[in-house]
Amino acid sequence: MTFEITILGSSSATPIYQRHPTAQVLNIHERFFLVDCGEGTLIQMNRYRIKFHRINQIFISHLHGDHYLGLMGLLSTMHLQGRTVPLHIYAPFELQEIVDIQLKYSQTSLRYELVFHPVNSSSSKKIYEDEDVEVHTIILNHRIPCTGFLFSEKQKLRKLIKEKLYEYNIPVTAYHDLKMGKDYTTPEGKIISNNELTDDPRIPRSYAFCSDTLYNEHIIPQIRKIDLLYHEATFMNDKLERAAETFHTTAAQAAAIAVKAEVKRLIIGHFSARYKNLYPLLDEAKAVFENTTLAIEGDRFMIE
Ligand SMILES: [Zn+2]
Ligand SMILES: [Zn+2]
Repeated sequence: MTFEITILGSSSATPIYQRHPTAQVLNIHERFFLVDCGEGTLIQMNRYRIKFHRINQIFISHLHGDHYLGLMGLLSTMHLQGRTVPLHIYAPFELQEIVDIQLKYSQTSLRYELVFHPVNSSSSKKIYEDEDVEVHTIILNHRIPCTGFLFSEKQKLRKLIKEKLYEYNIPVTAYHDLKMGKDYTTPEGKIISNNELTDDPRIPRSYAFCSDTLYNEHIIPQIRKIDLLYHEATFMNDKLERAAETFHTTAAQAAAIAVKAEVKRLIIGHFSARYKNLYPLLDEAKAVFENTTLAIEGDRFMIE
């Protein structure tokens, strides 16, 4: 079962040095989720062979342009290419007005249904759920309302061991209880322990997307021990004041969050245009949390 993140954009406000503003695509069990949609996202999807028509859910963290200005182009191309499947957008409620006014003045009536799900930025909520995945908001501290997103697989039921079921001649009617972890009692009253008949399910995997935010320890309980954390690192620690003024984080601070939350792995991104070479940011983060990687466009991160 796939759980993969593709980086489409890793720049902050200014696209520069061939870096584009924020966008990522998640493939979880062959469902494709777009997270933020900075300028050029569609071009980046084409470049990295992401089939954009397979995206049915888009999550937008906040309404600074570097996180959503690519959306209109994507919506419009989906329309022109004949999309009919509904598209769900999870975003601050004002985004609907921004999209509607552009559709109105271009006299466009989309061929597909656009379903807006307004996201509340004052408390964490579950905003999406299907049979395999849940998405919760993460409340960030930025100049305007901003949320991150926690993608987590659901806890699965125990896995039946077919050969054992045949060996003990277990009826199909007992399967559900076995998956729930119960022992099996034969008609003669003999108890067969659940461990003999089932295996442990896969441990649920999780990924958190946190951009943009001031250093914010309030997010730690929610991201504790997750497999992979993406955290913005707009600046280095020598620009700590600038980071605070603009409600952003430094590389060392992002790494400190990773340490305190005991995550397994950290990706840093949302780099300021002042850094052409990103390795000093990586070094700064690694000095605090070794298992850190730069968000480089086109890179894919698998969670095994
Ligand atoms: Zn930004
Ligand atoms: Zn921002």
